Amino acid sequence: MHQKTFYLKNESDTCALGKSLAAVLKAGLKIYLHGDLGAGKTTLIRAMLKEAGHKGKVKSPTYTLVEPYSIDLNNRPVDLLHFDLYRLGCPEEFLEAGFREHFNEKTICFIEWAEKADPELPPPDLVISLEVTGDGRTACLKASSDKGSHCLENLRF
Ligand code: ADP
Ligand code: MG
Repeated sequence: MHQKTFYLKNESDTCALGKSLAAVLKAGLKIYLHGDLGAGKTTLIRAMLKEAGHKGKVKSPTYTLVEPYSIDLNNRPVDLLHFDLYRLGCPEEFLEAGFREHFNEKTICFIEWAEKADPELPPPDLVISLEVTGDGRTACLKASSDKGSHCLENLRF
């Protein structure tokens, strides 16, 4: 499967990668983000959402665990869910909260700290790992399905 690695020298680069991602979104995509606190996961998602047409604020769902958005894909509204599972007590909580229902071919799910809900999560299409490297970040994008591969092939950054 596909893999791409980029060096992001500053926050603007992280935002530029987020914008590039907005251009390759497809309904049904599940994108999981890994990286320590402050690695840039929310920064990337915020830039992606703005580029995808979201006008309002993009809050970090630290306490709510999920923030829902609606974006336009080819003139059709698509629900995009931004999860941050850092404060999830245990994987069962993910099921009890009814979060599993959000995962289907009509939605797009971005998840920070997906490992907190393991093994209750469906497999991702794309995994993005962000790592502090010097003053910047290294972003590694790995596709783990045909859908994710397609997305990565089309990514222009
Ligand atoms: P996370 O969601 O992974 O905890 P945030 O996006 O909330 O991280 O915070 C990332 C922090 O790192 C912000 O202060 C942002 O300005 C900074 N940042 C983002 N990308 C880069 C980069 N490529 N180089 C240096 N700093 C960055
Ligand atoms: Mg975050």
